[in-house]
Amino acid sequence: HAPAHFRALLEMSRFHGEQIFLAYEDEHITFEEHFRRAATLAGRLIGEYGVRKGDRVAVAMRNYPEWVVSFSAALAAGAIAVPLNAWWTEAELAYGVRDSGAKVLIADGERAARLASTGVPLIVTRGEVPAGARAYDEVMGEVTADVKLPDVELSPEDPATIFYTSGTTGHPKGALGSHRNLGQSPMTVSYGFMRALAMAGKDLAAAAGGRRITLLTVPLFHVTGCFSALTTTMFTGGGLVLMYKWDPEQALRLIEREKVTAMIGVPTNAWQLMSHPDFGKYDLSSLATLGYGGAPAPPKLLERITANLPNRAPSNGYGMTETTALAIGNGGADYQARPDSIGLPTAVVDLRVVDPAGTELPPGEVGELCVRGPNVIMGYWNRPEATAQTFVDGWLHTGDLAKIDDEGFVYIVDRAKDMVIRGGENVYCAEVEAALFEHPAVDDAAVIGVPDDELGEEVGAVIRLAPGRSVTTAELREFLADRIAKFKIPAHVWFRDGELPRNPGGKILKTHLRREILGS
Ligand code: ATP
Ligand code: MG
Repeated sequence: HAPAHFRALLEMSRFHGEQIFLAYEDEHITFEEHFRRAATLAGRLIGEYGVRKGDRVAVAMRNYPEWVVSFSAALAAGAIAVPLNAWWTEAELAYGVRDSGAKVLIADGERAARLASTGVPLIVTRGEVPAGARAYDEVMGEVTADVKLPDVELSPEDPATIFYTSGTTGHPKGALGSHRNLGQSPMTVSYGFMRALAMAGKDLAAAAGGRRITLLTVPLFHVTGCFSALTTTMFTGGGLVLMYKWDPEQALRLIEREKVTAMIGVPTNAWQLMSHPDFGKYDLSSLATLGYGGAPAPPKLLERITANLPNRAPSNGYGMTETTALAIGNGGADYQARPDSIGLPTAVVDLRVVDPAGTELPPGEVGELCVRGPNVIMGYWNRPEATAQTFVDGWLHTGDLAKIDDEGFVYIVDRAKDMVIRGGENVYCAEVEAALFEHPAVDDAAVIGVPDDELGEEVGAVIRLAPGRSVTTAELREFLADRIAKFKIPAHVWFRDGELPRNPGGKILKTHLRREILGS
C-alpha cells in the first residue's frame, strides 16, 4: 500500500521543485534544495551518528530554515523528531533531552550553549560551536543533486514525533505522534482552510490555484507551526515565511514584501497586528486568510478583523498537541454567525462531551470534550499513567469543558483546571474574560480563582489597559453587570502595566499570574 509516512510527503514535496518553499529574511530555499539537504543530513545522521529507526533526534532552534531541514532529516532517517521549546531555560532543555533520551541534538548557537552540558552529541548552526560539538555546515558537507533518501522501512504506525505540550496546566508532557498522525495533517488543515475560504465567498479556484504564501507567527516547535503550517505547505506547495520571533511590525513588512496570503498563529498575533500604530501604512491586499487558534479567541477579535481587514476569511481553529494541531474549526459565514464557537469537527474526527463518569451528555450540556480520530496521538512518551488517564477506549480526554449545540457547533467553556468554583457555582474564566474584552479600555484580561474563606474561591481579574485608556474597578463591574450574572463579576480586580505572561502558544500562564499576585 501507499506509504503514509513522512518520507512519502518529503518525496512528494519535490514535485514543487524550484518553487520557493522557505523564506527567512533574505534567504530563500526551494523545495528541491530542501529535499537535497534533508536527504543529505539524514544520511549523515545514520552514517556518522549511528542513528537508527526509533532513535530520538532533538531539534532546539528558533524558526530558522535549518529547523525544517533538521526535522525532515530526522524523520527521513527513521528517527523520532523531538522539537524542543526554544524558550526553555538550560534546566528545562536538559529535562527535554533527558526525558526524550535524545541520541543527537541539532541546535542554534543560542541554545547550543545551554545544551552543551547534557553531554549528548551536538550539531550547531548560526553561532558559536562549543567544544566537542560540530558545526551544522561541516556535518552537512557536500549536497549533491542525486542524493537519495536513505533506505528505511517505515509504517504508518511507527512513531514520528515527540512534541512537548505547552505546560499551561503542569509540567510539559511528551506527546508521541505517529506517521499516520502526521500524514493526515495536510489534508485536515487544507480542507479546513478551503472550507473557510469557500464560506467567506472567496474565489476558490483562485485560492486553490494561486500560490499560498503562509506567514508563520508562532514557533515550529509547537504543533500549529509544524502541522498547520509546515507539513501543509510541503503538501500543497505554497511558500512558508519564517520569523525569528513574533514582531507585529516585522509581520506587516513581511506580508507586504512576500505577498503573504495566509497568516497562521495565535489570536494575540492578529490582535497585535491590527493594534500596531503603522498598521495602515502597509499594503496587506494579498492577505486572504488569518488562521488562529491554540488559545481562546474573544469574539471581539473577529469584530476587529471584520472592521480592519474586511473581505478576508478569518478562521479559529481548536487543537492540542495531542490532536496533531487542528481538530475543530470555525470560519466564513459560520464564524460570523457564531463568533463564540470553535466551529465544527474536521473531516477526520469524532467528538463527544462526557460527564465525570464518562457518560456521553446530550447537546447543550457542559462536560469534558473528547476527541477520536487518526490525528489523536499514540500517548505520552514514558508516562503510562498519564496516558491511561487521558486516552480511554480510543477517546482523548481533552481537559477542556465544552458543549455541542444541536447543529454540531462546539463551544469551549473553559479549561477544566481554570474553572473557578465560587460557593459551589461554576464560573468559567473564559466567559468572564470574553465579557471583559468587550470593554474598550481593556487590552488584555485574565481571570483567576482567588482563595476565599467563605466561598472557597472568589473571582479575580487581572487587566491590562489599552494605551491611553482608564477605567475604575467600579465602572468595570457595572459594565459587566449587563453582560454576566452577578456571581461571575470579579470581586478582585488588579490593573497591570506590562504584558500578561504568555507562553509561545499564546496562552496566559495563570499559574505564574497566581504566584505573582497571590503568592500561591
Ligand atoms: P499542558 O497540556 O502542558 O497544560 P496546553 O494544554 O496549553 O499545555 P497545548 O497542547 O499547546 O498545551 O494546548 C491545547 C489547549 O489549548 C487545549 O486543550 C485548549 O485548552 C486550548 N485551545 C486550543 N485551541 C483553542 C481555541 N481555538 N479556543 C480555545 N482554547 C483553545
Ligand atoms: Mg493540554
